Formats: sequence, C-alpha cells, structure tokens
Amino acid sequence: MRKYLNFIDGQWCNAISGQTFDAINPAKGEPFARIAKGSRQDAQKAIAAANAAQSLWRKVPLWERAALCHKMAELVVQYEKDLADILCTELGKPRHGEAIDEAREVATNFRQAAELAKFLEGQTIPTQDPHKRVLTFRQPRGVIAVITPWNFPAAIATEYLPHAIVMGNTVVWTPAPTAAATAVVLMEIIARAGLPKGVINLVLGPGNEVGDELVINRSTHAIGMTGSPKTGLTISSRAGLKPKLMELGGNGPTIILPDADPVKAAQMIAPACFYAAGQVCSCAERILVADNLKQDFVDEMIRQARSWVQGDPWDTNVNMGPQNSMMVVDKMTAHLLDASAKGAKILVGGGRPKLPGFFYEPTVLVDYAIDSLVNKEETFGPIAPIAAFKNDQQAWDYINACDFGLVSAVFTRDVDKAWQWADNLRTGITVVNDFTNYWELHIPFGGMSGTQSGLGRIGGRHTLEFMSDLKTIAFNIG
Ligand code: NAD
Repeated sequence: MRKYLNFIDGQWCNAISGQTFDAINPAKGEPFARIAKGSRQDAQKAIAAANAAQSLWRKVPLWERAALCHKMAELVVQYEKDLADILCTELGKPRHGEAIDEAREVATNFRQAAELAKFLEGQTIPTQDPHKRVLTFRQPRGVIAVITPWNFPAAIATEYLPHAIVMGNTVVWTPAPTAAATAVVLMEIIARAGLPKGVINLVLGPGNEVGDELVINRSTHAIGMTGSPKTGLTISSRAGLKPKLMELGGNGPTIILPDADPVKAAQMIAPACFYAAGQVCSCAERILVADNLKQDFVDEMIRQARSWVQGDPWDTNVNMGPQNSMMVVDKMTAHLLDASAKGAKILVGGGRPKLPGFFYEPTVLVDYAIDSLVNKEETFGPIAPIAAFKNDQQAWDYINACDFGLVSAVFTRDVDKAWQWADNLRTGITVVNDFTNYWELHIPFGGMSGTQSGLGRIGGRHTLEFMSDLKTIAFNIG
C-alpha cells in the first residue's frame, strides 16, 4: 500500500510522531493507502518553513511568480490523468466525468491567478493638503493558512494556492483527511515546476489539530478556508483578528414561479440535486414550486432522478459515485427519517442501493414541512426535496426558516419578478432561469452577510485582493 507524506520546506516527510491513518476508497469502503498523520508539531515546522521562505519569495517579481503559476498549469494539464485517477479512487468521482472535469478546472485556476494578478492596480488619491501625494498598492500578507474540504479537493485548493503565491505570500495548506492523497498528488505535480522550498507546505492530519494550529499560531497571517459552517464558526472564534476568507455551506432555495416551464425547470435543476452525489455547497437542496406546476415538475424530476447511473466510478456508464463517508450517508438517512416523520413522501430512492461502499440512491421527496431538517440544514446528499406554494408569502416562509445564504435560483419568464426576487433573496448569488450550480472561476462567490454561509468573496480578482494587504504610502513633497 502506498504511503502519502507531508511536504514541508521542499521535502517529503513522515509525520514527526511516525503515525499514519487509512485512506478509504468510498466506492468499496476499503483502505487503499496510508496517510502520514501530522500533528501540531508538523504544522509548526511547516509554519516556520513558510515564514523562512517569505522574505525571499515576496521579493521575487510578480511576473516571475506568475510564470511559475503558468508552469504549474502546464504540469497539471500534462499530469491530469494522475489527478483524475486519485479523485476517482479517493473520492469515488466517476473517472470519465466528474474526476476529469475537476482535474481540468485546476489548470484554469493557476492561469487565471497568474494573469489577473498582473492587472491588480493601486490608486493615486487626491488630497486636501497640496503638499502631499498619496498612493496605494498591494503587498503580500505573509503566511496564509489554507484549509480545504473533501468535496472538490483539487479545485477548491487551487482557488487559494495560486492566488496566494502569485501575490507573494507563502502557504501552509491542510486538506480534509478524506482527501489527503489527492492533495499529495496535486502537490507532487505543482512542485515539479521548480517551486522554491517553503513556498507551499502541505500538512496532512486531523483538522482540530493541524488546522487549529494553522489558525491559532501567531506566525500565520491570514486564513483561507472552505468547509462547513460549524468548522467555520470554530475557526472564527479561534483566529482572533486574522483576516479570514471563509466559504461555508449552503442550503439555498430554488423557486419555480407560476409562469415558468415546469419540465424545462426540472431538467435544469436535477443536476444541481444529483451531480457529485449532491455533495456540492451550491446544490438545489430545497425546491419550492408553484402549486399549479407541481405535478408536471415532480413527474419530470422523477424521470431525471431515475436517469442517474450508480456503480463502479471507473465504469464509463456511471455518472454518480458514492458519498464521501458513512457520516454523510447517516446525515442523509437522518434527514429523510425526519422529513417522513413530518409528513413528506419519498417518491424515488430513499435508501442505500445494493452496492459496496457509501452509495445512496438519488431521492425525490415531496411535501416536506417547513420545520424539517431538509429545509433548515444542508443535507449534502443526492436529494431533491420539493414543496409546493400557493402564494409568495408561503414560499418566503420556507425560505426564511433557514439561515444559510450562499446560492439561490428563480425560474420565471417575468423580468420584473426575476429582478425583485433576486434583489430580495438573502444569498450571495442568485441565478435566474438556471440551476444553482452555475458558476465560473472568476465570478465572485460567497455567502451573504449575517448568514451561516461564510465571509468574503472568492473567485478571480476577489481572491487576489484577499491575498494581499492594501498598503497606503503618503509622500510629503515639500
Ligand atoms: P469540514 O468543515 O468538516 O472541514 C473543512 C476543513 O476544515 C478540513 O480541512 C478539516 O480538516 C478542517 N477542520 C476541521 N475542524 C477544524 C478545526 N477545529 N480547526 C481548523 N480546521 C478544521 O467540511 P467538509 O466536510 O470537509 O466539507 C463539506 C462542507 O464544505 C459543506 O458544508 C460544504 O457546503 C462546504 N463547502 C463550501 C463551499 C463554498 O464554496 N462555499 C465549497 C465546497 C464545500
């Protein structure tokens, strides 16, 4: 069995304790590798290496740092098969769909960061005092703690890594333990670009130890984190005044207004319920359909749910893999039991198929109650929960029962109504007449203030801004 190691100060190394843990193949429920189990000490070693590298790296011209990111993009393209293979083995992502799609997104992240950074201009600011000239420009923050989840382990990591280093920061990165092997394969690929030692360090291990050390250690200077609201809250309370970019969970509503085409809407929404086995922060996890459209919408959603093929993720016919772990399966079960107890009906799925590993059937649930867990919390499974509404107020009652605020969608042919709903929905993003999973890498993405879905905006220029301090210099010109 292969052993996956930490990468600290340019060296692949075992955990200082010598401990390891199992990497599990979720499509089989069996171990396939051993992972170095880093601890606080490994994190401290990596933080020291990142700080030592910082003083040299911040002085490397931006164009050279950008060239390194372009080289990394080329390497990702060259080795995309390795990345797709491990995404399939470790996360159960269908090899010929999701896995290769994610591997390809990674190269785009490196290219975009490299190019956008060159055009991040400062300002000259007019002053009241005629003897002064004031200007602003962007400086690196220092050492960035990057903490990433398992659901898109390569794509999400590279929403932070290239942006951090191109802006002159150094990084200590810790991935979710169930995606550690993928992190190692990605690190192996990008290290081939001639990355100076200490610029990116990777420490594998439990979040409440390695991640927590990155958060509380006084020698990290900002935190980029994607994960659950619960972890986000813990990190916020532990990090003190460090700047934080936090991309947290979602349970955004999808609303189909009475004038929409119900069949077309169902066809567009279904992939937001079932792609990646529903393990996407922007999934359509609660669907509110106008009562007059309910029957047609539900009939089409049933057809859609039945069209997904589960099984061995290496099989070219398979387009839905397993859940990440039994924890995710158990949450799905708990949400369905709760919804059923409160009167909802399961029309398709609702259980585990006869497959090894952590699979869950694509499920269509109708008539769920406002106080059900599916309405109030993120399920993170292949589920289409549908409730009908007779008037706008009923829809708003469902929407307001949940304090997530990431992505919402509205389906209507009425432009005025589309604007009004988009304006009023308390989510960072509202998509009109398309599914909640629509996004491109340079478009700002993030949770609405005051919700559980995060802090700040990720994507293109917005991430670059987060990865830098705005420095003001005032000249007295006499
Ligand atoms: P998680 O919160 O369990 O873990 C995320 C990361 O935090 C992991 O690396 C973990 O090791 C680390 N961590 C755990 N406890 C920590 C602690 N006490 N201190 C520091 N770090 C700690 O999330 P997950 O299960 O890996 O990912 C799924 C969640 O991520 C879902 O809620 C999903 O919606 C969210 N997500 C959000 C976005 C977005 O862009 N908004 C994208 C993808 C996933």
